[in-house]
Amino acid sequence: MTKTSDFIWHNGEMIPYEQATTHVLSHALHYGSSVFEGIRAYDTPKGPAIFRLTDHIQRLYDSAKIYRMELPFSKEEIIQACKDVVRENGFKNAYLRPFAFLGHVGLGLNPKSHRADMTVAAMQWGAYLGEDSLAQGVDVCVSSWNRLAPNTMPTAAKAGGNYLSSQLISGEAKRNGYVEGIALDVSGCLSEGAGENLFVIKKGVLYTPPFTACILPGLTRDTIIELARARGYTVREESIAREALYLADEFFMTGTAAEIVPVRSVDGLPVGEGKRGPITEELQQAYFDLVKGQSEDPHGWLEYVNE
Ligand code: PMP
Repeated sequence: MTKTSDFIWHNGEMIPYEQATTHVLSHALHYGSSVFEGIRAYDTPKGPAIFRLTDHIQRLYDSAKIYRMELPFSKEEIIQACKDVVRENGFKNAYLRPFAFLGHVGLGLNPKSHRADMTVAAMQWGAYLGEDSLAQGVDVCVSSWNRLAPNTMPTAAKAGGNYLSSQLISGEAKRNGYVEGIALDVSGCLSEGAGENLFVIKKGVLYTPPFTACILPGLTRDTIIELARARGYTVREESIAREALYLADEFFMTGTAAEIVPVRSVDGLPVGEGKRGPITEELQQAYFDLVKGQSEDPHGWLEYVNE
């Protein structure tokens, strides 16, 4: 693996990238007992700003709470660590990865100590689904793998173990020549992509699967709901049948890494006119204007690194 930054914040200290290692008997390596976040910092006219940093760190602490993991730093300390790691590495744009994991606590499934180790890394990461994806749209398929069932593993937790499911979904899609896979929930309705939430547009109305469809409550999803409603669009959070993807006027996916990605085909069938649609483009523009500090930020979602 190539080095992706000079420094990583590790249990309260900023250390060189090479030294941020852990033991092979770490609990998380064996059992997936970690929680994490993916956050983006964007270059704005007022310097680098981390989009919805506080909300992401709240979700990190929520994920840890679900798994009864004890986090030895306060939210404020991790928020500061995120800002520091962008600044220390001299990044303007960055992808941040705050991470908490059960380390050297023994190999029992339920160790005595649930005290996590914590790290925050930052790196440069371009368009997650390919450089052309944002303008051209991507080709996706419905996966043969379902999303996690609600009484198996909690999908509101952004936990390491959940991403075995995501790896199956995206791996299968890529092997079959698609950019991403879409998972159905246990009832057969739409859930989410391997690392993205879904928005289907029909007759000017936006539809997105509800939390009960076993999705991760995405912050980009929440941002798009706000932006769309502020522009007068109706957004409905409701169950969506698979065939709605085939009959949609437009379909796009959202995620911190993926950003706002138009989908041009599903299972080989064109979505709408087979290219990015006008509402997708409008909301994509609104999103990029917001995160890059080029429009009003009424919610104070841009958290500046140098403040
Ligand atoms: N679902 C899954 C499974 C994800 O991994 C992600 C990316 N974090 C999302 C949805 C989108 O969430 P967010 O917009 O908060 O990045």
